[in-house]
Amino acid sequence: MENLYDVVIIGSGPAGLSAALYAGRAKLKTLLIEKERTGGQIVTTDEVANYPGSIRNATGPSLIARMVEQVEEFGAERISDTITEVELEGKIKVLKGEKGEYKAKTVIVATGAKPRQLNCPGEKEFIGKWVSYCATCDADFFTDFDVYVIGGGDSAVEEAIYLTKFARKVTIIHRRDQLRAAKSIQEKAFKNEKIDFIWNSEVKEIKGDGIVESMVIRNRITGEETEIHANEEDGTFGIFVFIGYMPQTDLFKGILDMDERGYLITDEDMRTNIEGVFAAGDCRK
Ligand code: NAP
Repeated sequence: MENLYDVVIIGSGPAGLSAALYAGRAKLKTLLIEKERTGGQIVTTDEVANYPGSIRNATGPSLIARMVEQVEEFGAERISDTITEVELEGKIKVLKGEKGEYKAKTVIVATGAKPRQLNCPGEKEFIGKWVSYCATCDADFFTDFDVYVIGGGDSAVEEAIYLTKFARKVTIIHRRDQLRAAKSIQEKAFKNEKIDFIWNSEVKEIKGDGIVESMVIRNRITGEETEIHANEEDGTFGIFVFIGYMPQTDLFKGILDMDERGYLITDEDMRTNIEGVFAAGDCRK
């Protein structure tokens, strides 16, 4: 049968690439489908300091390039396409993309998750530089700098606490006057002398010339706008955005079991509710 693969993997972040490596190495006819660029979220990271074995100024793109080389060595095919429709029931699964149709005995969903963005002017320009969505990845770069954390949920407050180990000061900017985070987490944050709060405020714009230099915030009650400037000596500050995550699983709604937030539910062996369909990586609960 034309285009029939043993394994088709949707998504080419580290989870998809790992799956392709193992499937290729097991001599299975393997296809890796990538939507935009290979690598997923990690390619937006300038420096990868905490991936085991990844040293000497590894960047997200350089780490992914090595993973891709390894995948290709083991014979997995790669194609760039956006899957728009799936038929997963039955022994042969059919994936319909914008460019073609693919058939597979087994499908691995590795579509990942994306941090929700502020969608304000300037945000995109500084992603991976001074705007971050991952404290464990980037906190170290902000040692002795001022840092602003946007959000009021568990992630924002926990990550703010974590960031105090590195930053000179951490200011949480939240759009309401009460945190959503669990009380136990809130208590720790209120006790932490390095954490300040700006309430009822949202980020309107991030500004700078190649580096974040200031940020405009708007008080949602008074409408007043304030521009926060970097400390003159530092010249910049960090912005960490934790306003929720969005698993990239819309395509599977009503087909694969997912939790209320859209994360795919699997058993310990990564099996979804449909035989021959697996999920791996950040799209998985
Ligand atoms: P979350 O609970 O959805 O909180 C998102 C926060 O961002 C909320 O405070 C929300 O404000 C704010 N927000 C949303 N959209 C915004 C926007 N456009 N502009 C500004 N602020 C915005 O997300 P999360 O903190 O990532 O947590 C996700 C889930 O993981 C939760 O169920 C959480 O309990 C869980 N989690 C648990 C732990 C733990 O147990 N240790 C740690 C991390 C996460 P409002 O409050 O006004 O809606």
